[in-house]
Amino acid sequence: MNLKNSKFYKRIQELRHFSKEKIRKSREQRTRVSVSRALDMALSEQVCSDREWFSSEQSPTAEPASPRRRVKKFRCPKKKASVGQQMDDPYYHLAGGQSSGGNSPMQAEAKLQGLIQLNNTTYRVDCPTRVLNPLKINDGGPEDRSGSDSKSTICVTNSRYAMIGKISKTLGYRLVKESKLWNILWSDSFPGVELFKNMKRFQQINHFPGMIEICRKDLLSRNLNRMQKQFPQDYKIFPKTWMLPADYGDAMNYALNHKRTFILKPDSGAQGRGIWLTNDLKTIGAHERLICQTYIHRPLLIDGYKFDLRVYTLITSVDPLRIFVYNEGLARFATNKYVEPTPGNSNDLYMHLTNYSVNKRNSHYELCDNDDCGSKRKLSAINNWMRRHNYDVDEFWSNVDDVIIKTVLSAWPVLKHNYHACFPGHDKIQACFEILGFDILVDWKLKPYILEVNHSPSFHTNEQVDREVKRPLIRDTLNLVSTSLADKRLILKEDRKRVKQRLLKIRGEPPAQRHRLNGGISKAKIDVKTSNPEAKASGNPVQIEAEPGDQGPLAQQIAWEDGHLGNFRKIMPPPDLAKLAYYSRFYAQSNQVSIFAETAASKKREDLARKMRIQIEEKKAKQQQMLNGKSKRESRKRLAVMLPRAVREKNRMSLFRMRENWSPGFISDAEERLRHTWLHMRSEAIRTLKITENIYSTLYESGHLTNTDMVVYPHLYHNLQHGFDIRQNP
Ligand code: ADP
Repeated sequence: MNLKNSKFYKRIQELRHFSKEKIRKSREQRTRVSVSRALDMALSEQVCSDREWFSSEQSPTAEPASPRRRVKKFRCPKKKASVGQQMDDPYYHLAGGQSSGGNSPMQAEAKLQGLIQLNNTTYRVDCPTRVLNPLKINDGGPEDRSGSDSKSTICVTNSRYAMIGKISKTLGYRLVKESKLWNILWSDSFPGVELFKNMKRFQQINHFPGMIEICRKDLLSRNLNRMQKQFPQDYKIFPKTWMLPADYGDAMNYALNHKRTFILKPDSGAQGRGIWLTNDLKTIGAHERLICQTYIHRPLLIDGYKFDLRVYTLITSVDPLRIFVYNEGLARFATNKYVEPTPGNSNDLYMHLTNYSVNKRNSHYELCDNDDCGSKRKLSAINNWMRRHNYDVDEFWSNVDDVIIKTVLSAWPVLKHNYHACFPGHDKIQACFEILGFDILVDWKLKPYILEVNHSPSFHTNEQVDREVKRPLIRDTLNLVSTSLADKRLILKEDRKRVKQRLLKIRGEPPAQRHRLNGGISKAKIDVKTSNPEAKASGNPVQIEAEPGDQGPLAQQIAWEDGHLGNFRKIMPPPDLAKLAYYSRFYAQSNQVSIFAETAASKKREDLARKMRIQIEEKKAKQQQMLNGKSKRESRKRLAVMLPRAVREKNRMSLFRMRENWSPGFISDAEERLRHTWLHMRSEAIRTLKITENIYSTLYESGHLTNTDMVVYPHLYHNLQHGFDIRQNP
């Protein structure tokens, strides 16, 4: 019986065809869904390509995902504003102008989609938003969690501030331990290099390696002094500073010629500990490790009190440098009315220091819920006060921004180098972000001076004013950092695949080359020089459509940040092209000159290196000479070898014959007799002049007679032993 004609066989064939068709259709559908998801999650254009997404979904190396997890991941996108509408909004043309940032009414719900201009190139970007309800931003109450990405995790176990964990939770972050695969690690202290190096490509940490360069008083002074030497006019942003004991001579010299008060601080101190004022530097020991600074004796006073500003600054990337300043901050007041320093009042720390930790101990410390009183006030209150007193507030803040940018730029080469050394493959998002607390003192002419930079500014919320400033600050920071741009699962899968490929040494197609997220700085730096002059003049860079995927992650991150500013303002890169050009020379200069070029130790090292270089060069020259000599001989040999064989053979034979035919010449009897006579005369002379005895007795007297001398001339020795003078005739 022919089975193929049977009904049963036909039915089976039908069913097989049907199921094949079904599988194909379901695959197609899944691919479509995955692609739209990938776009929604604003992965880079590369990642968004449907094939890669599909293949990664199908990857045999992937962990079997539970159906629940799958549903969570492929949740429907939030309501979107229409693309056309967004494109028309100037907010979406992000570079070259200040974006409307957190104030955009569309921001709360819209998916950020549009064009971004970067280095004269226009990129198409597509980012999901995760923004709070703007109405709730400043009230400190519970936030809208609907927009947040619930899968992001944060580790706050290394932070003593409970507020960080609480706010993260309300933003939809899951709190995890350090041993888990966190998205963000928030730590109060600088982590070790090992932690930096072991970070995955979707992880972010709240410190940059190398930020210590501006966060320790001595390093900050060194960097700023170095920049001041190179740019004396531009770097008048801090009081004259010496690092003792290295600069003791310079400081004494200055003190001799200027009648000034100096403030002395421990080189790595904080919270006003160990600070004192003096106008006599001779009282300082020549070996004390201190920071000596000229005292700003005419500060700006409000209600007769001295104050300083705590300006919160967020750095999200060092290459390219991206700096944001929080519009709200704190002004910390001294608690005794200010009088210019005299020997009588210089011990009054409540008058001269503005630290909270010092002044809270004073009974005059004022707690106040009103904006215009209290020993701690908001920056907005200070701005209002300035406006009331006809100060130019915009100009003042532009000067503060300038001080902040220049301070960060002074350590930029180190920051950039360290970042690339620690995160060579972090290509999806920036590995670090950091909130820095800049302490700024303002003088009576409204000129801001940088006093100190804190890498872990206090997030204690003892007073209402603290809560009003610090809570929104943390919230806006967590919104601005771009964790959601990196897909944890996808990155882990990619990494596993890479490891597997490496282990199995799979040949063939190399893994897709990673985009350098931070490859834009060199472009950004030269942007101003190379860009079209017309475009520069008009302030409107040329628009070129970029290749899809080109600098994708960087463009995505920049778009994300500009779309999630909250109460931050972006100061670097500055919106103004002229300013960008101005700052670019500090990049270039600080890049060329070694940061360590000015220290005494480095000078010594340089000297030593120079000497060693000279020695090595001399040695090399000698060796070369010797080699040259050798090579001459060798070349002669080589030349000989090059003679024709017949000639060589002839030469060899004549030499042989010469040697063979040699015989001693003829010696006559007369010559021989003469030779004997001369020998006899010589022996006679030696004997009569007693030359042997003379030499022998000299050697005997000086103790240089050897055993052989004693054995060969025993009679001389014997005579000398018995005290005879052998030089005399017997
Ligand atoms: P710390 O890290 O210990 O707080 P700071 O450098 O911030 O040290 O100085 C503490 C306080 O001393 C500042 O808040 C400021 O009020 C005052 N101060 C510091 N340097 C100067 C200066 N050069 N001129 C005037 N006041 C200063």
